[in-house]
Amino acid sequence: MNLILMGPPGAGKGTQADLIKASYPVPHISTGDMFREAVQEGTELGLKAKSFMDKGQLVPDEVTIGIVEERLAQPDCKEGFLLDGFPRTTVQAQALDKVLSRLNSKIEAAINIFVPDEVLIQRTTGRVSCSQCKSLYHIVFNPPVKAGVCDKCGGELIQRSDDQEETARNRLKVYQQQTSPLLDYYEAHGVLHSIDGDRDTLQVFADIQAVLAGL
Ligand SMILES: [Zn+2]
Repeated sequence: MNLILMGPPGAGKGTQADLIKASYPVPHISTGDMFREAVQEGTELGLKAKSFMDKGQLVPDEVTIGIVEERLAQPDCKEGFLLDGFPRTTVQAQALDKVLSRLNSKIEAAINIFVPDEVLIQRTTGRVSCSQCKSLYHIVFNPPVKAGVCDKCGGELIQRSDDQEETARNRLKVYQQQTSPLLDYYEAHGVLHSIDGDRDTLQVFADIQAVLAGL
């Protein structure tokens, strides 16, 4: 079961990844974790990636793809994997296909969780956290008893600068520009499954399970 999980910030991708991981015997591979592991283990590619990250630069594709290849060749990926945060571009997707064909494998499903922009903005801009104990709230979906005040410790609730509306809108625009060719790519390969993420978590997961049952 070789899967890619896609979805914009606020679509609930992390929650769905956790549910998939809990129900299927495949490792959840996120780009961030993969980089951290490679750096920790001090692999040649890990060190190369670190040299770019230390300078605040983007890790070049050939390094990223090498790290992905090393990760996918590990024994825990034998029954499949759930890739999260990679690929981000069609160039990376093509490189991934090459890597997989060397491993006698291929992507079986690219699951895209879609949610209307306005809902995404509402979800992300409503997030606040306690300035003292870091507890998380959402002003619509999980509000504190008293607006602006933490239920647990009475601390002041603040919004991350990333979650301010203009930042959230820009982030979404960049995400969509980057991923729409990627969605076309997987559509053309007949593996794209678009799932309506503007519903209850478990309803969304039920649709994902239906896709996976059909593989
Ligand atoms: Zn608090």
